[in-house]
Amino acid sequence: MRIHLLSPLLILLVLPACRHTAPQAPQDRPAAVTVAADDNLNAVLWMQASAEYRAAALQTWRAATDRLDDALADPRWDALLPAERGNPAMGLPPAVIVDVDETVLDNSPYQARLVLDGGEYASATWAAWVDERRATPIPGVLAFAQAAQARGVTIVYISNRTEAMQDATLDNLRAVGLPVASDAVFLGKGTVVEGCASADSGDKACRRRLAGRDYRVLFQFGDQLGDFTAVEPNTPDARAALMATHGEWFGERWWMLPNPSYGDWQPAVFDNDWGQSPQQRREAKRRALDPAR
Ligand SMILES: [Mg+2]
Repeated sequence: MRIHLLSPLLILLVLPACRHTAPQAPQDRPAAVTVAADDNLNAVLWMQASAEYRAAALQTWRAATDRLDDALADPRWDALLPAERGNPAMGLPPAVIVDVDETVLDNSPYQARLVLDGGEYASATWAAWVDERRATPIPGVLAFAQAAQARGVTIVYISNRTEAMQDATLDNLRAVGLPVASDAVFLGKGTVVEGCASADSGDKACRRRLAGRDYRVLFQFGDQLGDFTAVEPNTPDARAALMATHGEWFGERWWMLPNPSYGDWQPAVFDNDWGQSPQQRREAKRRALDPAR
């Protein structure tokens, strides 16, 4: 009896639910939001949102911290390749050489803006971002820097940020708590090194040589092969050869931070020809994929 009384009410309650789950006619569906595909979406998202990226960066800086005392104790230990060292390292005060972008500072907000706006890197937008001085430290770098500072190890920043960006960069580094011993520890793109000429102003070899004049270099840190030694020419074969020759230095004197969002590994597969359209570059990258390896 009670069921009979409730039945009309139940029907009234269930009917609206049925209406919501019934397939909608095409004309009733909301318009699909179409977003242009961006080749960098996954890479930037991984760097900003994944615990995996944080873990990879942390383990790199922690492993290096664990090697600091060994490197300090061995007077012959040096992280510059002999070809890039113009003077004996023994007896010089200790330093580490670090790249800045995606090595000690996280510029992923700039990359995220490019993805969201459908843009590509441009020197003007990059300079505006640098001037904001809002890059945050890469996970793990502050603890390493404190350990280095406590042991009297100077941090030298060799960056392809230009010399004009020095003030903004040093402000940003200091603001996040990274040690800046003096303005002289920033060696930006365009630094003139007496007695040394690079074919390309982005090549860091002369600046490494300059740092080597004053310091025994315990470690180098970067997110690009070119942060550690000259890569010439920037081709997949030359890069592979360099790894075959010097790969054992990684995890010992050289420490690589992950950066899937940009870097010389990319133009290496499209002949370093940025004049190509994005579609042409994408096609070259697809051709570089190996479905059989
Ligand atoms: Mg970098």
